[in-house]
Amino acid sequence: MNPATAASPTAKSGSRTHTSVTCPFCSLLCDDLEVTNRGGSLGVTAGDCARARGGFERDYASLSPQMDGRDVSMDQAVAAAARLLRGARHPLYGGLGTDVAGMRGLLALADRTGGIVDHMLGDTMYRNILAMQDRGWIMTTMTEVRNRADVVIFANLDAVSDHPRFFERNIWNAESMFGLATKSRRIVYLGEGLNTRPGVSPDGRKPLHLRNEPERLGELIGALRALLAGQSLQARTVAGVKVAELTKLLGIMKGAKYGVIIWSPPRLPFASADLVVEAICDLVKELNAQTRFSGFALGGNEGILTAGAVCTWQSGYQLRTDFAAGYPEFDPTRNATARLLADDDVDLLLWTSTFLTGQTPPETKAPTVLLAPPLRGLDTRCAVYIPVGTPGVDHRGQMCRVDNVVSLPLHQVRESALPSVAGVCNLLLQSL
Ligand code: SF4
Repeated sequence: MNPATAASPTAKSGSRTHTSVTCPFCSLLCDDLEVTNRGGSLGVTAGDCARARGGFERDYASLSPQMDGRDVSMDQAVAAAARLLRGARHPLYGGLGTDVAGMRGLLALADRTGGIVDHMLGDTMYRNILAMQDRGWIMTTMTEVRNRADVVIFANLDAVSDHPRFFERNIWNAESMFGLATKSRRIVYLGEGLNTRPGVSPDGRKPLHLRNEPERLGELIGALRALLAGQSLQARTVAGVKVAELTKLLGIMKGAKYGVIIWSPPRLPFASADLVVEAICDLVKELNAQTRFSGFALGGNEGILTAGAVCTWQSGYQLRTDFAAGYPEFDPTRNATARLLADDDVDLLLWTSTFLTGQTPPETKAPTVLLAPPLRGLDTRCAVYIPVGTPGVDHRGQMCRVDNVVSLPLHQVRESALPSVAGVCNLLLQSL
């Protein structure tokens, strides 16, 4: 058996089943999937998740590399992309939906060509990073949530919309360490338009649901902090929630042995959301004077945590770092994709996206090189298109999990002639 082909494959007539497969299609990186390969068509046969099925079971078209919409050979496409990179004075490496090796390759290119690196979800990531840089935070891990949390509060999110198996894996897990009876956990939702059904405990207990106006979450957190500090509120409602309900929630929080409040940066799509994250982090710190409480940030899909981790390991700085000066210059505002493109501050866009979304690069006057799997319906109208495989499907890889404490190996579950992003970056580096 070729160890590159998968975790524990078993073969039946004409099909091959891989067990303990790690799923790269959201940042939970569930590592218990069973994927069956029937002649190159994949099916998720255990660890059921619509999002995972959408990733593993998607069809590829027979797209070849392209230049300005014309089919060309891989050699010609790589040579054309290398020519563009050589001629660029200030290229942007955007998208960054790839694995550890792919991100290492893109960083090497950025370093060599004096480029900037930013992820397609960079704006959402900075809602967290700015809060962490300004105030610090007390955060926990997925393992701690699974094994210790007795009160879990979801702030403006239901978790399952973007991370479908969150409750199955981390809330209603049948087994836990330290004697925690998981079905007795207290679940609280803050916000509207949420799917709260997964919050009903296995024995039928309903979650507490406070329906605050989502964009006024900061006011609600501020009111909780005031009440915790012993202040009284003149208002009867805050952000659409009765103060009596807030007082009840605060009682639950103070009574927790290990409370966790979870938010997701993409679910805070309003101005100055970093200040709301800061307020949540401050509330967590203040609760720790009385009990044990932690924060937990969901989000991190499309490989953003992997891109950020690799950038930090290698340059010492987070994403939105510019290598044009010959050394890394970090500036989360100046080096944001939207700002760079709006101001025509870059003269080439190399866009990479291998997971579920973001395969259409943003509009720009600069020529674009696109690295993406050959998905059906993919818009390849750009200077150069190079088809690549999906990490964890077409080739092996490694990604960082949502809590940033582990990176997990990805396995190859089908034979593929598609190169990896890292492989294409290597070819480009050799051609520069
Ligand atoms: S929850 Fe996320 S990581 Fe887990 S199987 Fe679904 S898409 Fe994959």
